[in-house]
Amino acid sequence: MWPNALRAFEALDPAVGERVRALGGEELNGGIRHRGGRWLSRVDAVELARRHGAVLILHRADLLRTLVDAVPPGSLQLAVDITAVHLPGPPAAGVSTTDGVTVTDAGGRSFRGDLLVGADGLRSAVRRSLWTEAPAPRVRRVHRLALHHPAAPSPPRRGR
Ligand SMILES: Cc1cc2nc3c(=O)[nH]c(=O)nc-3n(C[C@H](O)[C@H](O)[C@H](O)COP(=O)(O)OP(=O)(O)OC[C@H]3O[C@@H](n4cnc5c(N)ncnc54)[C@H](O)[C@@H]3O)c2cc1C
Repeated sequence: MWPNALRAFEALDPAVGERVRALGGEELNGGIRHRGGRWLSRVDAVELARRHGAVLILHRADLLRTLVDAVPPGSLQLAVDITAVHLPGPPAAGVSTTDGVTVTDAGGRSFRGDLLVGADGLRSAVRRSLWTEAPAPRVRRVHRLALHHPAAPSPPRRGR
């Protein structure tokens, strides 16, 4: 987990931030090696931590459990597929209204609240519903690969 995410947890609730920090170890070193063992790239974790703060290595399931434990019992509802957001007026980033906000789900249910945080990922239904002109995400797939550069030494042959 990058330092900015850790700082966000700490800003939201210092106790939760502390619990999240306790879940993992701080990364000491990292990098990508060639299959022969040679380093292709290194991360200077000490310098990274000096500049931005520590990077934490933790298990995603532990993080989710910690966050679920932090919300009041009964407040979390799973398997709710939000399809539309209804505001009393036209949407604007940071708009403040005393009339609250209502969302509806695929099953036709309505949920009303004071505040809606549209943290529903890359293909956000909240963004689609409020900003109909917004372009759809164009990223479909990411490939990570290493290529041989002509100037680099030849990789060892298989079986050698
Ligand atoms: C394989 C993989 C490995 C990764 N590894 C790392 C890593 O090691 N370190 C790192 O920092 N990042 C990693 N990432 C990236 C990281 O997971 C994302 O950047 C991050 O999860 C994005 O957070 P988010 O809250 O914006 O969206 P998401 O994590 O996608 O959360 C969106 C949530 O909204 C819910 N949702 C979506 N649509 C609706 C709807 N209509 N109604 C109700 N709920 C809805 C989804 O179910 C989901 O729970 C990885 C990603 C992948 C795919």
